[in-house]
Amino acid sequence: MARSQSRLAAEIDFERNGKQHGFIRLPYSVHRSAYGWIPIPVASIKNGKGPRILLMAGNHGDEYEGQVALGKLIRSLEPAEISGRIIILPSANFPAAMAGMRTSPLDEGNLNRSFPGDPYGGPTAQIADYIESVLLPQCDFVFDFHSGGSSLTYVPSALMRRPQTTAALAQGIEMLRTFGAPVAYLVDAALGDHTLTAAAARAGVRHMSAELAGGGQVTPAALRILEAGLRRVLTLVGALGGEPRRPRHRPGSCRCAALTTMSMRPIPGSSSRWSNWATR
Ligand SMILES: [Zn+2]
Repeated sequence: MARSQSRLAAEIDFERNGKQHGFIRLPYSVHRSAYGWIPIPVASIKNGKGPRILLMAGNHGDEYEGQVALGKLIRSLEPAEISGRIIILPSANFPAAMAGMRTSPLDEGNLNRSFPGDPYGGPTAQIADYIESVLLPQCDFVFDFHSGGSSLTYVPSALMRRPQTTAALAQGIEMLRTFGAPVAYLVDAALGDHTLTAAAARAGVRHMSAELAGGGQVTPAALRILEAGLRRVLTLVGALGGEPRRPRHRPGSCRCAALTTMSMRPIPGSSSRWSNWATR
């Protein structure tokens, strides 16, 4: 394992076979609790050798789709169904998730702008450091589920940083198509070096993210896209048995697009919560 000065400690043993759940404890000494700690929910489902996967949601606390879907997955998935290990972090920035906010009420930290983190920083920086320095080095894949949160809504979509080799690019596009969201795209270092996407690239961990609608609510349609797509991708990488079934795209209708760059900009003069951000 690479650098690890993290003070965070998991209650569960990621090397043990079977299904475990508990908390990652983040020491938090404050006026009302000298030896208090922040509980970050975590689960590990392991069955022998196979792909090592990290599933994340609640990177932003007001993005509920992934948190709901991964909570359901923790309750339903059994070790006998999988090969390898799936670590599930359903509410990664737990203080933000408890507050229903994009950022942490403890330090205003935006987890997905906090990587590589700081083991001696505030709670959000410490969570980022733990994910980058402890969890990612023991994983082959990380899938991170976002949405528009309270301030915007996305067309349900999947994305990843553009892989740098021809073979990895082909595998990446296969993964995006297999996930089967209505839209998929590749990004070139969008949002800089402080995202989980960048952390995964630094760690050499294959990454895919999704933006599942949002608007401060959860729709059954967005959940269906996430849950069905995740099962297909877990099958594709060999964590679930069987043949990966492609989503039904009519020939020529697939909108998986390889974009050169994605940038986000406010639409001048717009104040609508639904339309004040756009991709181009
Ligand atoms: Zn997000």
